[in-house]
Amino acid sequence: MDLLKEKIVAEGKVLSDTVLKVDAFLNHQIDPVFMQEIGKEFANRFRDKNITKILTLESSGIAPATMAGLELDVPVIFARKRQSLTLTNNLLTADVYSFTKQTTSKISVSHDFIQADDRVLVIDDFLANGQAALGLMDIAEQAEATVAGIGIVIEKGFQEGGQALRDKGVKVESLAIIDSLENKQVVFKEEVRQ
Ligand code: 5GP
Repeated sequence: MDLLKEKIVAEGKVLSDTVLKVDAFLNHQIDPVFMQEIGKEFANRFRDKNITKILTLESSGIAPATMAGLELDVPVIFARKRQSLTLTNNLLTADVYSFTKQTTSKISVSHDFIQADDRVLVIDDFLANGQAALGLMDIAEQAEATVAGIGIVIEKGFQEGGQALRDKGVKVESLAIIDSLENKQVVFKEEVRQ
């Protein structure tokens, strides 16, 4: 997605050979007009998949997932990373190792919002080693729902997550794929359309 690549080049900061900071439009400040375009792009790529629910992870997945939900006219569920006093019953959980925080956290979703007849689109902001997306897939599978696709805003193609998810046979669409962050330069890969 050219608009996203332009935004990454203009506003992203390469923190190291493996970490890109995009606080200016995705992870801290949100550009709503741009985010709506992200939602439209996800909707276009998954419109034929009969999606009934979108599943993401708090907090940075919520904005792109909500915009995609608006376009596809389906509810959006975000997995909680922290224990909640109000989220106690009927929980589906998975352990997720965070690439950026280097800690494992238990993510939770109420079974009330995902059923066996759902066709779930998993959305997340970044794809690194795939732990977050695999945890969300695990939760959908515990509900016996179908994971109909995975939508990622920024995939780091030099890490192993993309391969791990595609090996599972699920349609993975990343709106920008980064080949390298070496020498403080963002090098993009051509988008892979399945
Ligand atoms: P994974 O679970 O695929 O290893 O890592 C994906 C998660 O880690 C995303 O939800 C995202 O929050 C975070 N993440 C991974 N790599 C980056 C990065 O380079 N920049 C930012 N801002 N977040 C990242």
